[in-house]
Amino acid sequence: MARLGNWIEPFPEGIYVKPADAWVDPSKAVEKALVTHGHADHARGGHGAVWATPETLAIMDVRYGQQSANPVAYGETIRVGEVEVSFVPAGHVLGSAQIILDYRGERVVVSGDYKRRPDPTCAPFVVVPCDIFITEATFGLPVFRHPDTGAEIDRLLHRLHHEPGRCVLVGAYALGKAQRVIAELRACGHHEPIYYHGAMERLCTLYEQLGVPLGELRPVAGAKKEELVGRIIICPPSALNDRWSRRLPDPVTAMASGWMRVRQRARQKNVELPLVISDHCDWDELTQTIRDVAPKEVWITHGREDALMHWCMLHQVKARELNLVGYEDDEEE
Ligand SMILES: [Zn+2]
Ligand SMILES: [Zn+2]
Repeated sequence: MARLGNWIEPFPEGIYVKPADAWVDPSKAVEKALVTHGHADHARGGHGAVWATPETLAIMDVRYGQQSANPVAYGETIRVGEVEVSFVPAGHVLGSAQIILDYRGERVVVSGDYKRRPDPTCAPFVVVPCDIFITEATFGLPVFRHPDTGAEIDRLLHRLHHEPGRCVLVGAYALGKAQRVIAELRACGHHEPIYYHGAMERLCTLYEQLGVPLGELRPVAGAKKEELVGRIIICPPSALNDRWSRRLPDPVTAMASGWMRVRQRARQKNVELPLVISDHCDWDELTQTIRDVAPKEVWITHGREDALMHWCMLHQVKARELNLVGYEDDEEE
């Protein structure tokens, strides 16, 4: 019998689906690309044709300009070459999808990036039983256990209220994390205006247009220093320590990232208030997902593959390590 999934070929540049003559999340420009979500290590510009959810396509439009786009709604099935393709929610960022590939009785699920926790800005992860589950392993070490998100938001608000002469500057990736932090703050009853760095504007506006309410947002540009006292300000992580932040009133520097679990990373970025808020699974959620999906094989991509490989071995799940390039981006997280 042929090897399971022999119609799927992982290359460093992405996953090639032979009978569709298409690539999943290719890092180079190709004729046909199936894209799981809008983060830069998965979605690139310049493809001949792109299949993705309408939200991911809208995000790609904002970042790369108009694509030759084929929108596929969650749950819809299309045919690309000889392969049936559908997209189901991955719970990672708005529009993020797992891509289901069905060919000659075999089912492969490419999960892209995903998480299992509730996120007010996107649809929750759906468990899809399959033969091969291709998973990320960004936080694939037992030491990674993300705390409760609500508790992290409470710490942020507590700090804001106890240092009334300052502001809290939160570094958060511009796609996904920024909007999630804002939406989580709203859910915790923070209804004050939230200020943003100019780099956040287009994606925040897009989220609202796509039906994710973010409350009152104001640009930092044009606001007087006094107006920013006692406020939460969201910026890209790269702006935390640059000249731009000098205009702010004595900011408490915070950052929302799964990497904030690693003290050294927080120190490197001069982060005073590390917030462990991740758009990826922690170790328990990764292993629970493999249990839930119960595939015949697990193929592991970007991150710390070794520990998850070992876990699979111990639990009698056949596992394979894929070496894809360009698949680790701290900032994204
Ligand atoms: Zn991502
Ligand atoms: Zn990724």
